Amino acid sequence: MSSRRNFLQQLAASVVAFPLIPAEACALHENTDKTTYDGAPLRVAILGLGSYGTRVAEAMKDCKRARLTGVVSGTPAKITNWQQKYSIPEKNCYNYENFDSIKDNPDIDVVYVITPNALHKDFVIRAAKAGKHVICEKPMAVNAKEGQEMVDACKKANVKLLVGYRMHFEPKTLEIIRMRKDGELGKITFFQGLSGFTAGDPNQWRLNKALAGGGAMMDIGIYSINGARYMVGEEPVWVTAQETKTNPEKFKPGVDETIQFQLGFPSGAVASCLSTYNMNNLDRFFLDGTQGYAELWPSTGYGPIKGRTNKGELTQPHMTHQTVQMDEMAGIILDGKQPVVPVDGEEGVRDLKIIDAIYKAASTGKKVELK
Ligand code: NAD
Repeated sequence: MSSRRNFLQQLAASVVAFPLIPAEACALHENTDKTTYDGAPLRVAILGLGSYGTRVAEAMKDCKRARLTGVVSGTPAKITNWQQKYSIPEKNCYNYENFDSIKDNPDIDVVYVITPNALHKDFVIRAAKAGKHVICEKPMAVNAKEGQEMVDACKKANVKLLVGYRMHFEPKTLEIIRMRKDGELGKITFFQGLSGFTAGDPNQWRLNKALAGGGAMMDIGIYSINGARYMVGEEPVWVTAQETKTNPEKFKPGVDETIQFQLGFPSGAVASCLSTYNMNNLDRFFLDGTQGYAELWPSTGYGPIKGRTNKGELTQPHMTHQTVQMDEMAGIILDGKQPVVPVDGEEGVRDLKIIDAIYKAASTGKKVELK
């Protein structure tokens, strides 16, 4: 058990909390819906062929509606490798210089931007200007102002902008949201979100303010922010926050190591959350209501997500998050389907406004009101 834990701790350096090793990921893969789809697929080009881009590409092999048809990368060797692995024709391969000519390619409907955070904005705007729909990884930008510019650019270009919020399609998460909406938990009073892992390599882009836009909050803390909103079902109206830093050498100025933050909601419900790059085993949501409670633990890792409520264990099957996400996003983009929890650019901006407020509250020590 302890060697597994050590392994997970090392692996957590580059992925979100509680990732699965590949063999486990295969064993746990239980996409049971084998119905076929005859309509036109959503044809996707992935931009940024790193570790998460690879995970999305692998998951898309099992999609019914989304298909990987193109790649955009600054590394020619990666392009060759991906072409062979996913049968991508030369005409659908781009580098960062010739990427704008994707506008003339009828075989690509959407560009999925999976680069370091600070690069999202420019790539999203370029894809929109090329007339392509865009999916952008979280956090969609490094602050709300940039996020809003992306939303505006996509509106102007008349293309859809979605954020890679895979948990918005996760079955146990959706069951708790259903219970809350149906009043089964009573009046919601409290949410607790714990999001963190130990960041390994001190030289990775995630610890570089210029590329990451911040520290743990941008990468993993955002799950507790977003989770607080979809679990409580309200938008917060105030924020307080406290930052602690035990390793200023590794976590330079502007790169947050640990932030505890509290959110207040219009109904009077409150949330207490923790975001960190320097603690392990933190991936838990707890929602309390006057008539019941719900827990997800793990809550946002790649799964399987585990959950229980005052009524017992949640038994919805595990499905590879990115497979479900991409099929659902195909429905949103191609058919105008409305997800239970939004995944559009405005949703991404709402999280960034809260992140901006958390940083302000942490640096000033004051309560920040959210408009
Ligand atoms: P990564 O470092 O593994 O990959 C980043 C990719 O961007 C690499 O292919 C790299 O070559 C490319 N890149 C382009 N310009 C770069 C530059 N100037 N500096 C560094 N790399 C550059 O990172 P990742 O883990 O794949 O994360 C990418 C994005 O995906 C991030 O925004 C992250 O928050 C997000 N992500 C989301 C999830 C999720 O569960 N939704 C999980 C992991 C990562």
